[in-house]
Amino acid sequence: MIAHTPTLFGAVALVATILAFCLLLVGRFNRRDTLLLTGVGLLVHALAYVCYTLYGHAPLLVSYALGNSLLSLAVAFYSASLFRVREQPVPWRRIFMFPPLMLVGLMALLDTVEPRMLMASLGLMGQCGLLLYWAQRKGQWQGRAHLLLSIGAAISLIGLGMRVIAIANGTAGEMRYDTSNLKQTVSVAIGTVTVMMFSIGLVLMAKERTEARLQQLALSDGLTGTLNRRAILERFEQRVQQHQRGARPLAVAMIDIDHFKRINDVHGHQAGDEVLCQCVRTWQQRLRTGDSLGRWGGEEFLLLLPDTDRAGALRLVSELRQGLASQPARFAGKSIDLRFSVGLWCGVPGEDDTTASLLAQADAALYQAKASGRDAVHLVALDEVG
Ligand code: GH3
Ligand code: MG
Ligand code: MG
Repeated sequence: MIAHTPTLFGAVALVATILAFCLLLVGRFNRRDTLLLTGVGLLVHALAYVCYTLYGHAPLLVSYALGNSLLSLAVAFYSASLFRVREQPVPWRRIFMFPPLMLVGLMALLDTVEPRMLMASLGLMGQCGLLLYWAQRKGQWQGRAHLLLSIGAAISLIGLGMRVIAIANGTAGEMRYDTSNLKQTVSVAIGTVTVMMFSIGLVLMAKERTEARLQQLALSDGLTGTLNRRAILERFEQRVQQHQRGARPLAVAMIDIDHFKRINDVHGHQAGDEVLCQCVRTWQQRLRTGDSLGRWGGEEFLLLLPDTDRAGALRLVSELRQGLASQPARFAGKSIDLRFSVGLWCGVPGEDDTTASLLAQADAALYQAKASGRDAVHLVALDEVG
């Protein structure tokens, strides 16, 4: 099926405009959102295609040089959105140097056919290749929607590649913007797919980012940033099941800071808050990647140490103690001494062990540690274990 090329260009412009207005309308409510940037990209994309429809009716400066430079600008906006959505610094200069270079280059080559077409195609291929590279590069945050963006960039590379092949075969004339043939129809249809994939990919990426942020908020403790009670309990349930199945040892430590109320009374509540944060930071430096620390409540923490036996757990608790001794918490220039008591359960969770039963045992051990004078570890005795 061969479609009338200028009509196809008009259809792409219409689709891009509708998508742009939808995104601009929604993105307007949140300026930090990437939707606004993607919306502007789509609008510029639409303008580029409007310029293409004018081929043969308006000067080449508008229908060719401006059209392709606008398309280059649209890809630059999509690239900027990609960095924004990943919350990475946008390399504005590197991204936006392409459109002016394209404009200057095409103006210089306007009277030629193959060279100007080669310049436009290779320039856009370079940008799409970079977009593909940036989308694939592992960032600090990587969702699934980037795949859509990558496919969009790959498809546009194919569409542009078709133009380069036509130049190489000496059939560049077949790819003129006012010529209608199968190659042109396929090439412009690819343009439409690209518009859809770029915009949907970027919108989904923004959605994934928001979901990831909400999930992080729901699972982290507002003060210390470590796992909150719900998250550590969830992790605990997973660990108990895993270690039951694999018959692997697990250590569970309930930690409570000693005389914390005094810190609040002597230095103030703000100092108490700051001390809790510093304490968590110091401990986290000593934990392994598989270990989990969660704030159980107030100044009480639950620590899970997978594949750790008693000796290992006692060694780690002693390291946590040393950590606080070598890096004491500070507030308003004063160093604040911190000590803590620990109730420790270690063993291979049996069939009858549940998070509730293990917690109850660790809690009882913590009570013993407090009763024995604090700044101590009390182990749940072997015969007490399940
Ligand atoms: P013990 O050695 O028996 O554990 O004594 P303690 O003073 O640490 O324990 P207690 O349960 O008597 O007091 C805990 C204090 O921790 C009381 C509460 O105001 C304080 N606290 C709980 N959560 C926070 C918090 O988020 N910030 C601050 N600054 N204080 C908190
Ligand atoms: Mg306490
Ligand atoms: Mg307490």
